[in-house]
Amino acid sequence: MLQLGLRTFVAVPSAALLGIVTAGIVKPRSDLAGHACSSGRSCFLGIASCCRFECGDEGDVRRVRRDQGEREGGHESERERAGGKEMTEKRPTTYLRMRRRVVRIEACCIHYLSHASKTKFPTGREGGGPPARRVDGTVAAQRSYQVQLPEEGGVEADEAQGSKYSDDEDVARCLRSMVREEGWGALYRGWMVCLFDGILLVAGLVYTMLDKSVVHRDTITCSAAMVSSAAHAGKAASAKDVVVIGAGPAGAMLGANLARLGVNVDVLDERSDKTSTGRADGIQPKTLETFKQMRVLEPLLQKGVKFYDMMFWHSDASTSLRRTGRETHYPSPDVIDVLEPYMLLGHQGMVEDALLDDMAAHRTHVTRNAHFTEFNSRSGSIDVSYEDSAAGSTLHLQTAYLVGCDGAHSNVRKCMPNTEMVGESKDIIWGVLDGEIDTEFPDLWSKTIVQSKKYGTILCIPRERNMTRLYIELISTGENEKITKAVANQQFVMQRARDIFAPYKLNWTFIGEPSPTDLILANINSSEEWFGLYQIGQRVANRFMDDSKRVFITGDAGHTHSPKAGQGMNVSMHDSWNLAWKLNLAVRGLAAPALLPTYEAERRKIATDLIHFDHEHAEAFSAGDPKKLAENFATNTRFISGVGADYSDNVLNQPLSSPAITGDCRPGKLLTPGKVTRYVDHNPVDLQLDIPHLGQFRIFMFCATVQAFEPSPTSPSFLGRVSAAASASYKARPRPMSPQDEFSRPERYFAASDLFTFGVITTQPKDSFEIADLPPLLAKSRWTIYLDNVPDMDTKKMRCADKWAGGVREGEVVVVNVRPDGYVGSVARWKGTADDGRHAVGWLERYYGGFLQADAGTKISAKL
Ligand SMILES: Cc1cc2nc3c(=O)[nH]c(=O)nc-3n(C[C@H](O)[C@H](O)[C@H](O)COP(=O)(O)OP(=O)(O)OC[C@H]3O[C@@H](n4cnc5c(N)ncnc54)[C@H](O)[C@@H]3O)c2cc1C
Repeated sequence: MLQLGLRTFVAVPSAALLGIVTAGIVKPRSDLAGHACSSGRSCFLGIASCCRFECGDEGDVRRVRRDQGEREGGHESERERAGGKEMTEKRPTTYLRMRRRVVRIEACCIHYLSHASKTKFPTGREGGGPPARRVDGTVAAQRSYQVQLPEEGGVEADEAQGSKYSDDEDVARCLRSMVREEGWGALYRGWMVCLFDGILLVAGLVYTMLDKSVVHRDTITCSAAMVSSAAHAGKAASAKDVVVIGAGPAGAMLGANLARLGVNVDVLDERSDKTSTGRADGIQPKTLETFKQMRVLEPLLQKGVKFYDMMFWHSDASTSLRRTGRETHYPSPDVIDVLEPYMLLGHQGMVEDALLDDMAAHRTHVTRNAHFTEFNSRSGSIDVSYEDSAAGSTLHLQTAYLVGCDGAHSNVRKCMPNTEMVGESKDIIWGVLDGEIDTEFPDLWSKTIVQSKKYGTILCIPRERNMTRLYIELISTGENEKITKAVANQQFVMQRARDIFAPYKLNWTFIGEPSPTDLILANINSSEEWFGLYQIGQRVANRFMDDSKRVFITGDAGHTHSPKAGQGMNVSMHDSWNLAWKLNLAVRGLAAPALLPTYEAERRKIATDLIHFDHEHAEAFSAGDPKKLAENFATNTRFISGVGADYSDNVLNQPLSSPAITGDCRPGKLLTPGKVTRYVDHNPVDLQLDIPHLGQFRIFMFCATVQAFEPSPTSPSFLGRVSAAASASYKARPRPMSPQDEFSRPERYFAASDLFTFGVITTQPKDSFEIADLPPLLAKSRWTIYLDNVPDMDTKKMRCADKWAGGVREGEVVVVNVRPDGYVGSVARWKGTADDGRHAVGWLERYYGGFLQADAGTKISAKL
């Protein structure tokens, strides 16, 4: 019998582990595999065999390839016993090509093993099966369903993370052929469906492979409604802290952050899968830094492309097309000081993927095919209604907070009383086209603006997979020409692009984004999703929050504008970045009433700034004046990069109390890069990123010598009480560990408090003090004692204290309060005397007392 141990589990490509038999019923979940590996305990799915099928033109199905290394007759091969290396190289995959759509079926044959008993999954019995287990080995609240399958009917793949294919007859036909041609005996009639930690598993066994017993020889079909209902039933079981509507960039960002902070969140999306083509594609420097802070940037860097410069081209009646300018997109650190001074390009689905993977690593998954319809607020609770579109039923969820990340046509916004979009819509239509271009034009790998006085403007953006995105302005070229969406079809937009680029030739090698499966099967040279049209609407919602302060909107639900400056996806994610930590504190009862309204105040300001910028930017684009356009970019570089998204004074961003602070640390602004050496292991690190983001505040103290610290007063302080309340809350509901956390151990940054990480940055040489010389609270924080001794590694070649605080003199302490989202909250300079120490404590207490609240009744003793 098949026994897959941990080693095999690790060795088999994770994406292949959880793919289930029929086309995309369950999307491969690498996160779960990762959990299983790192816990060292779970092993519940393995893969036996694979092959590749194609549907011919007549709809016939034939096997076109049978991978090597597949399992035969249910016997464990030598190679697999040796650790499954062969399976790593020969990834078991079945491809099914249906009409013009290619569906990859992974893991044709799944063996379900209970990790505890290692018993084979009993099939063909009503409600049978071992208990579903979580990755930590505990038994999950189990639901199991025996899906009785109709003799006739379609296979519709559908699941919380899966895809839905309408070509169900083809799938069914393919499955039948798999049974016959492969001699597998049967795909049995009954499928076991269980909810595993919120993930729906549909485990199908090719039973003859295991013990030669044929169960049934019928066609496998699976009622989408039943599968879907099972998933939704599990979701609805308990009340939620937060329900997020929409899993685009804004929703995925919110879901990922709430999940990592330990908030009980449900994310619903009406789509059956993430974005696969088109839409947004630009990640700005500030967002790159945020992704670094979340530790999700690496996969994006591997796939995306970077651009550092901008080119300007122009043609008019008297001069043919020529380059008129060449600029660095993000110039010196004096203009914009960032670690990643470029824009990263990759389609929206890649970004969603990175965030959804992170969400899944923290055990939260999107419920798909869930169309939000309305909400009703009652005291302290919100009733959310949504349609399970596969089952055609209406379902309900109870939640404390609801966030609409449901895009420009947001239903949540429409349900919020007295809420509307304010602004205007422009007449000009733009075409967007993604594809690989064959041309002699020399500047396709920079951000390039090509302006033709007669035919309009094109913005070219280099993209992954050798593609280029073209944004093509569709202007009228003569009195009789009226451009409407009906006129602007694919051929029209391509011809207009050729007119603007003339005399350079444009030929598209392929149009649309080829999926990996497309590439494997080749000959895919067209797609219906290759281009889009849009009309600019520059609008901002009049409110981002309802009167109860329990319903919010983020992203496109609150603002729409042109996509030319690459802002939409970035600003949308930063809305959610801003809201996530505030909601976490609210859910935990640690937020004073003043905290949540700062979301609306801060992010509506940014949305309004964005609309003003976008207005000017669009004008400069259409004006056809290359100089004016270059100037517009230069003037707005900080804003475009994201680092210029400054917040106004409010309870979180306190005006400077001391005029002696002359550095970069300004309340309401983001931290700039600061390079220091970590005392404990002597690693040079980026101070603004070193401490993992887990919803806590950072209190940085700069000093020339650590002797400047007097022992600080302890309880009964407000910080002590609120910190105790936070400890109690995180003890009751901890932040979930991701597989990576096993290695990085973020808890070492919480030695003193769950709510505050204290950091000391000193210019004192390492060999002149020990950590034990510091007051107890700081001595506990050994991972956040830093030496300010690597100015040569800084972006501006400055010491961190000089750069951030304008220097620190002997006997002084400069305190910088940094919010969980990386914005500076308040800054002050103090002398190291006992008197000033008392004032400093009072100042800290007033600052945090403005937006936090402590549970006075807590019995847990303060760590502070
Ligand atoms: C057609 C189109 C083309 C675009 N092209 C570009 C471009 O070329 N360049 C660019 O920079 N930006 C482009 N954008 C804008 C960019 O995609 C957005 O700025 C960005 O995606 C905003 O993210 P979001 O999460 O706020 O919204 P979205 O990405 O729109 O995500 C909203 C999510 O909510 C879900 N949803 C909606 N209604 C419901 C409901 N009732 N119930 C459940 N789920 C729901 C949707 O399925 C979707 O997943 C485009 C947008 C659209 C709509």
